Amino acid sequence: MQRVALVTGGMGGLGEAVCIKLAALGYKGVTTYSPSNTKAKDWLKSMNSRGYNFNAYPCDVVDFDSCRECVTKVGNDLGPVDVLVNNAGITRDMTFKKMTPKDWDIVIRTNLYSVFNMTKQVLDGMIERGWGRVINISSVNAQKGAFGQTNYSSAKAGMHGFTKALALEVAKRGVTVNTISPGYIGTRMVTAIPREVLDNKILPQIPMSRLGKPEEVAGLVAYLASEEAAFVHGANISINGGQHMY
Ligand code: NDP
Repeated sequence: MQRVALVTGGMGGLGEAVCIKLAALGYKGVTTYSPSNTKAKDWLKSMNSRGYNFNAYPCDVVDFDSCRECVTKVGNDLGPVDVLVNNAGITRDMTFKKMTPKDWDIVIRTNLYSVFNMTKQVLDGMIERGWGRVINISSVNAQKGAFGQTNYSSAKAGMHGFTKALALEVAKRGVTVNTISPGYIGTRMVTAIPREVLDNKILPQIPMSRLGKPEEVAGLVAYLASEEAAFVHGANISINGGQHMY
């Protein structure tokens, strides 16, 4: 049976690797992109030329109605969502002193409200069918805090609370809910950090002395989505090259 996997922000660095991995494993892959994303068509074309056949839908994860419309379209076109990867996210890094309510709000909404907005659309169906996977992409910076990221660390830490609370509610319903906390992965979110900061401040914190690869995170998502991971529930799994161990 071909399961439907929906990855929010699937055109970003990590999301793309997750989409490719899940498609290679035989899932019907769905990606969402921001309604303002003008490169979505080019992305799909380039994926098609590489032999990947994804469905893509515009969806503003900050907007509940947009999420509902997106998941309704997916349901009509492909069937109900079996695996939801809450991956869309943004950063607006600055010290708390400089942070405006707007910088706080948009980061909390995009990284955390999005998890509510998307999970709400798919959970009842998963419970009715007795099978589902909700996988939330958080961050090492939720676990340990990060200078200049009070907004982002708060939003990503909120995901952990969400995961654990929802895991209790659905534990007997065949649906697992888990969080992955990646360390620094070589995507545009990280390559946007000034080289000097990367080399002098970030890499020295990572015992493996390198950035992670999107494919390494995608492998973990694929595991959590699989049948074998049925007993992994309410977990927060680190993947960070040893940067933060506990
Ligand atoms: P990217 O910036 O490459 O991708 C982020 C994705 O989020 C984009 O595809 C973007 O879509 C989507 N997105 C942002 N805002 C919205 C919105 N309002 N509605 C819909 N989609 C939106 O980042 P990464 O791939 O690196 O990050 C993916 C996830 O992993 C994020 O949640 C990030 O916080 C997390 N993470 C990343 C780490 C890293 O080192 N890279 C480390 C730890 C966690 P579009 O392009 O269409 O605008």
